[in-house]
Amino acid sequence: MVDDSSARFHSLIIEHAPVWVNTLDTEGRVTLWNRAAERISGYRREEVVGHAAVWEWLYPDREYRATLLAEAEVVIREGREMAGRESTILTRSGEERTLSWHAQRFFDDDGALLGASAIAEDITERKQLEERAQRQHRLQAIVSAISAQFADISADAVDNAVTGVLQRLNEFFRMGRAYVIRFRPGGQTMDLVHEWCAPGIRPFLDEMQGIPLEAHAWVTGQIRRGRTVHVPDVDDLPEAAAFEQAEFRRQSIESLLLIPLISDQNAFGMLGFDSVNQRFHWNREEITTLQVVADIIAGTFARKQVEAELARQARVDGLTGLANRRQFDAVLERECRSRRAVNLALLMIDIDHFKPYNDRFGHQRGDDCLRRVAAVLQEAAHRPTDLVARYGGEEFACILPDTTLEGARAVAERVRREVEALQLDHPDNATGGVTVSLGVGVVTERRSLEPEALLGEADRLLYCAKREGRNRVCVAGL
Ligand code: GH3
Ligand code: MG
Ligand code: MG
Repeated sequence: MVDDSSARFHSLIIEHAPVWVNTLDTEGRVTLWNRAAERISGYRREEVVGHAAVWEWLYPDREYRATLLAEAEVVIREGREMAGRESTILTRSGEERTLSWHAQRFFDDDGALLGASAIAEDITERKQLEERAQRQHRLQAIVSAISAQFADISADAVDNAVTGVLQRLNEFFRMGRAYVIRFRPGGQTMDLVHEWCAPGIRPFLDEMQGIPLEAHAWVTGQIRRGRTVHVPDVDDLPEAAAFEQAEFRRQSIESLLLIPLISDQNAFGMLGFDSVNQRFHWNREEITTLQVVADIIAGTFARKQVEAELARQARVDGLTGLANRRQFDAVLERECRSRRAVNLALLMIDIDHFKPYNDRFGHQRGDDCLRRVAAVLQEAAHRPTDLVARYGGEEFACILPDTTLEGARAVAERVRREVEALQLDHPDNATGGVTVSLGVGVVTERRSLEPEALLGEADRLLYCAKREGRNRVCVAGL
């Protein structure tokens, strides 16, 4: 037996220990509950000592509680020590806290089993920091993968890849909706161009089209200035954002994050995240990481646009906007080789006495004339499968698939008539106005054909038309 002052000394140490200390009797009833246990749990010793009810309060989930009590049972009955066992309690104020437990049984001086003593450390904050670090680590791994994927992505794979990114981020944050919005050139309206919604969340892809920026002036104003808009609580939006606030509430959005997409110092859209039906708070590290994703997407869009423009320029004639010679050659080659090469018509068009026209009026006016003739051709050969090209200089060519000899003659005749009807002054031409001559070759039988053969025939017919007096059409089948 210890003497009274020693016992008091020991109990003072336990009482004021910075860690949770409690003891249980062999029935699981609380026999000691120190100050730290009171402070952490919110339950005072008067409420808990003498019975086992506190375990129901701390662990309201029946199954979870049964597991923990079974483990305590093993400590008391079998003498196994518990070390570093973590559990999550519900405190009196309704807060969840994570504890790390050490427990062992103890005996009185005569060797009789008294119960178990338990020491618990509140590791809630440490745990949160750990989890936060792990989350950030996982997010960074996702972003690294995205970065690698986008490094050498082909232009036609971008759209799918962006949607995939939205899905991954949305699944990571579990908040509802992730999307990309782009401002249209001119900066008056915007479109939702990519979207990923969690199950049960309504998509906006169809209705968020051509939305005036003016209507969301506060949000779009921030984005255009290159600022990230982080709204942890839609209720806290400023007065100036009253319209947006009403809109977000209507859509059950409680928190949102909008990050500008910037290319060449121009914010041309945004990467957005909506937390629907629940609040969500993105921490600073997460926002910084998501800004990296926005930069990857913005860079990819910008690159895709440049590539598309280069590809277009490679196919189009700068003066007239028609297909250029390179595209003409490719399409003629394809059409000649395709099985549809029956009823394939090729028109070669040449402006009559264009050299004196140029000499008299100058190149500028000559160019205008070429554009007018080009417009007539485009109008005359308007099927989606037709191709109108500037073949070179003042010569044009039309490829008309699935067109009979009579049909091709009709198109050619219409072109001739319409150019004449432009009534462009041309004193050095027989009619006094600008005219064209056309040679039309038509493959009427199914057979394999070299593009050069068709081209040569159309060219030959064009010179027939010239020889026979110009402003006319010469047609022949092959
Ligand atoms: P023909 O009726 O026999 O076709 O006579 P032509 O004078 O039209 O024939 P030619 O092929 O000798 O002359 C073509 C002229 O077209 C040469 C040039 O003055 C003009 N030309 C060619 N390319 C361009 C162009 O890109 N712009 C302008 N303005 N003129 C061009
Ligand atoms: Mg010519
Ligand atoms: Mg000519």
